[in-house]
Amino acid sequence: MHAYIGLGSNLENPLAQLDRAIETLKKHDDLKNLRVSSIYGSKPVGPQDQPDYINAVASFDTDLSPLALLDLLQSIEQSQRRVRERHWGPRTLDLDLLLYGQERIQLPRLNVPHPFMLERGFVIKPFSDLAPDMLLENGKTVTEQLHQLDTSDLVFIKEE
Ligand code: ADP
Ligand code: MG
Repeated sequence: MHAYIGLGSNLENPLAQLDRAIETLKKHDDLKNLRVSSIYGSKPVGPQDQPDYINAVASFDTDLSPLALLDLLQSIEQSQRRVRERHWGPRTLDLDLLLYGQERIQLPRLNVPHPFMLERGFVIKPFSDLAPDMLLENGKTVTEQLHQLDTSDLVFIKEE
């Protein structure tokens, strides 16, 4: 299955957090053909009294089931000592499963496609680096969706 994940961080040297997570993903035997978008900075969603975020999107092929993949993402979050303090609060590393092939998954632990991905510039912008012409669930291409969004707070940080 081809999967897309979102990576985010706003604490404890966010660039190093993302690089480290990407290295872990690259080395993992169950993930093949890893591709990573450029990295972008953005203002926080929700509470504003926290540092800016950096975000990227990665894609890979995997035979892991969706829940096994979520377990893997959460174990990587844990290994980078993520502390969950409050909803939408600061975090050292956030890994979200965005898409798992074309599947729609509604489980208590896992909603795919990720419920907020279409409205978030910091997801759709890096997504467009990897798959600009891909059709989204709303029938638009990633590029068309990007043009609907306000991306004025996004800044390009670096190419992976
Ligand atoms: P958020 O990413 O919404 O800021 P968290 O990373 O703390 O918040 O995730 C909260 C819960 O969301 C996780 O425990 C996980 O089980 C659940 N979840 C539901 N759908 C997804 C998804 N597509 N990717 C990652 N986590 C998900
Ligand atoms: Mg998350």
